Amino acid sequence: MSQIPQRQAARTVPIVAKPSRTDGVAQSAWALPLPPAPEANLTPHALMDTLGRPLRDLRISVTDRCNFRCGYCMPRAAFGRDHAFLPQPELLSFEEITRAARLFLSLGVRKLRLTGGEPLLRKDLERLVAQLAGLRTLDGHPPELTLTTNGSLLARKARALKDAGLQRVTVSLDALDATTFQQMSDSTLSVSDVLDGIDHARAVGLGPIKVNMVVQRGVNDHEILPMARHFRGSGVELRFIEFMDVGHTNRWDMAHVLPSDQVRAIIETEFPLVMADSPRQGTTAARWSYADGQGHVGFISSVTQAFCGDCNRMRLSTDGRLYTCLFASQGHDLRSVLRQTSLADDAHVAARLAALWQQRQDRYSQLRGTESEQAAHDASARVEMSFIGG
Ligand code: SAM
Ligand code: SF4
Ligand code: SF4
Repeated sequence: MSQIPQRQAARTVPIVAKPSRTDGVAQSAWALPLPPAPEANLTPHALMDTLGRPLRDLRISVTDRCNFRCGYCMPRAAFGRDHAFLPQPELLSFEEITRAARLFLSLGVRKLRLTGGEPLLRKDLERLVAQLAGLRTLDGHPPELTLTTNGSLLARKARALKDAGLQRVTVSLDALDATTFQQMSDSTLSVSDVLDGIDHARAVGLGPIKVNMVVQRGVNDHEILPMARHFRGSGVELRFIEFMDVGHTNRWDMAHVLPSDQVRAIIETEFPLVMADSPRQGTTAARWSYADGQGHVGFISSVTQAFCGDCNRMRLSTDGRLYTCLFASQGHDLRSVLRQTSLADDAHVAARLAALWQQRQDRYSQLRGTESEQAAHDASARVEMSFIGG
């Protein structure tokens, strides 16, 4: 079993100040330096944060751009024509992402998820997928390698992604009704583009496929049953996500959250459900099965049933900052560490990443709305989901 060597920080990484954006969508005002390496030797298998949670999942945002403008994520008022997306040199290269992923796998990560923004907009993404597919976990297995996409470009890319080693995809789709879909995605693309993408993904073996539907009360709750009818019995697992207060531009309001219990009650007016096997540790969705055996549905209830207790996810932003929570306002600057060190320094860099995980205290969803959370979090500084990935 490999051990991370004890060593003091060789370099101090400067705090990076980002210029604030003209449209008010400061991606994150500051990047903090990574902490120094821990004093004591550490066994990666025993790496835990302050709440006893292991590190298992790395979500990698490969672009901050998107061809949709979903109102709950990148509302056009904030992400308009003159929005300043990251310039190319600020993006982590594929080699830098692969190095970061390798370091995290050496600390116990088993699953890598590519996300964004819209990950399929990143040029030559299959080259990155091939590099990541060649990595190994601590136990010598290939990492679970998945991708979350809005599906609009999936029909074109599914085959190349599969050939490169991608295992599964999750596709976001909020409605089958054309008007509701266009209103929610604020794009000129159509439902059939997305359904076509799902079909291609399935045909090339990128399954089992999951479909994510963000439910907003009064916006697409009338689509819950049509979506359930469409996907049940198809082998695709439909998951209903509560509208979350992530970022600070989506004008989140509890009145627009439809709690998962109510979504489930709507489904059960037509299709009885039974609770399925308890999800594996660290999974976000509570799983239910159709009583007649026609498959499963999932409920991701970050607002009404927080799952911070076993949250094992680290997030890597497009420009190489690490976020230990989706609701964080500050990230830690991995990019300059990667750019200032060589592969020979990897054991030391891994030790600093371990130190970051060891000091993690996040449990935003559990504390949401409490006085201590309000004192600790500045909601107006929260990083946007399109920047750190879902
Ligand atoms: N563009 C890709 C997509 O839409 O699948 C990947 C990135 S997107 C940020 C990842 C997931 O986050 C999507 O399933 C999306 O629906 C979800 N999401 C974004 N903003 C959300 C919000 N405010 N509440 C709940 N889910 C949200
Ligand atoms: Fe784009 Fe995905 Fe955000 Fe919609 S949810 S705006 S598709 S990044
Ligand atoms: Fe994890 Fe933060 Fe979400 Fe809790 S609020 S589940 S700690 S990402």
